[in-house]
Amino acid sequence: MLRDPSNLETAAPIARGSDAARPMIDPFGRAITYLRVSVTDRCDFRCVYCMSENMHFLPKQELLTLEELDRLCTAFIGQGVRKLRITGGEPLVRRGIMTLFEALSRHLASGRLDELTLTTNGSQLARYAEALAACGVRRINVSLDTLDPEKFARITRWGDFSKVMAGIDAAQKAGLAVKINTVALKGVNDDEALALLRWAHGRGMDLTFIEVMPLGEVDGQRVDQYLPLSRLRAELAQHLTLDEIDYRTGGPARYVRVRETGGRLGFITPLTHNFCESCNRVRVTCTGTLFMCLGQEDAADLRKPLRGSESDGPLLAAMAEAISRKPKGHDFVIDRTTQHPAVSRHMSVTGG
Ligand code: SAM
Ligand code: SF4
Repeated sequence: MLRDPSNLETAAPIARGSDAARPMIDPFGRAITYLRVSVTDRCDFRCVYCMSENMHFLPKQELLTLEELDRLCTAFIGQGVRKLRITGGEPLVRRGIMTLFEALSRHLASGRLDELTLTTNGSQLARYAEALAACGVRRINVSLDTLDPEKFARITRWGDFSKVMAGIDAAQKAGLAVKINTVALKGVNDDEALALLRWAHGRGMDLTFIEVMPLGEVDGQRVDQYLPLSRLRAELAQHLTLDEIDYRTGGPARYVRVRETGGRLGFITPLTHNFCESCNRVRVTCTGTLFMCLGQEDAADLRKPLRGSESDGPLLAAMAEAISRKPKGHDFVIDRTTQHPAVSRHMSVTGG
């Protein structure tokens, strides 16, 4: 459901002194300090858990321009956002995307932003890694679900494994810390968990496993993809010593240190262990729609106030009103009796 910001008579702008931005606080007392921005819904892959093979993408004129995205991010930074993740779809396939990174890097330089980062499938990294590092990007997440090129082709449908490997090489060469994100897929990559871990840690990269979430219709049943991470963790624990650690990156992952490799291993468990109580995030799509929760339909249109006025007042009012109705959490269910996704939009719309 998309609320029309022109109806927001009661919402007061929350603009404050620009340099000492206090975070926006939601109804459950959670400070909103982390914004994820999906800069395109398009992608050069068609991962089986993320998209169906035939996707309808947004017409280009629906998209916010890069300048508008910059203005929107800047407004959030002015309201206390300290961490910005650029995502998609595949963010690096958006034409001219580096101009957005270049523009946003001014907030790192001014100290108003702690971190500018990216989630990518890695296909374009060989081309952009150096430029990202030059913009102050220090850490990136690369999604990779297998080390087997044939399996990779089956999972991503359109992806080229060698390009992703070249991308990871380039990122490390450019000095970027790489974290590998792996969606755990039942019967597909569960047999590779140990190999993926040894490979990632052997290259000095953290690895995080993610439970598949019921977002959007895909070709096939979610229940056939879903592997609870409690099971995967128990299997890994038979081979390795997993020591609990306090390490946090501002996201939902919980980490352990693997004693044998010395590396960090993360678990993102939206199904088996809900982490909503500490949620500090909101997400904006490439059309300027603000989702206060990845797993709920409620949304606010920020494009209208953004385009409707040169002043940020209406935009800030719409942001404040939206945060005031951030829900407590998601209600993901994957089982044989639940046929429909929790929300109709794909992960590529809201961004991971
Ligand atoms: N294209 C980029 C990538 O793949 O890294 C960024 C966008 S992608 C939507 C962000 C993350 O979401 C990826 O790590 C991907 O594996 C994950 N993802 C996509 N669909 C998912 C789903 N249904 N459940 C869990 N994770 C999902
Ligand atoms: Fe594209 Fe990322 Fe979705 Fe795969 S997970 S289809 S790479 S957006």
